[in-house]
Amino acid sequence: MNKTETYFNEEQMRKEICSVGQKLYDKEYVVANDGNISVKINAQQIILTPTGVSKGGMTPESLVKMDLDGRVLTKGAHPSSEARMHLQVYRLNPEVKAVVHAHPPLATTFAVARIPLDRPLLAEAIVNLGVVPVANYALTGTEEVPKAITPFVKDYNAVLLANHGLLTWGKDLTQAFFRMESVEHYCKIIYYLKQIGPPVELDSEEVEELIDIRKKLGINAGGIPSVR
Ligand SMILES: [Zn+2]
Repeated sequence: MNKTETYFNEEQMRKEICSVGQKLYDKEYVVANDGNISVKINAQQIILTPTGVSKGGMTPESLVKMDLDGRVLTKGAHPSSEARMHLQVYRLNPEVKAVVHAHPPLATTFAVARIPLDRPLLAEAIVNLGVVPVANYALTGTEEVPKAITPFVKDYNAVLLANHGLLTWGKDLTQAFFRMESVEHYCKIIYYLKQIGPPVELDSEEVEELIDIRKKLGINAGGIPSVR
């Protein structure tokens, strides 16, 4: 890989991170100072949200530049306490260029109940997400968090963090954010199902067709829901 290759314009990405932060806050996917967002701007560096700030109303210059070894490159800045979680995703999956972490209420409820999203229920979710597993519980801000997500980073597009929240990633910030929205939507549908009636699950042929569409879209991760 070319070490100097630039993936995104830094200034533009700083603005985009602020805009996604505002959306997370407005949609109540985060409250108070919850959540963190990062973008890999080149092969060596990421831009990450700082610690202890609301994701609503961030400014581009408040964001923190780091290298993939965890060195802070912005003088005097303090990155999110979950920086290690972001860095682990980038280290293990070079295709990933953006990572979003938040606490959307329904997805977080699934994370607390430790229920993975692994049934063939929603066509759109099978194409864009696949299976969403649950990572082991890990104390926030510790080395346990990157360890807990390690088994999932290469083969999936999102992971529920046990008793904590949701982590998604993608080839750019839009895809990572859309996956956050899609998981929350998916959880909402499952929640409604509990009130309306048992689902009719897709069969293996129908799932295969959706996986084919996913491949054609260039999405190579996600796992395949198990068919009864
Ligand atoms: Zn969190």
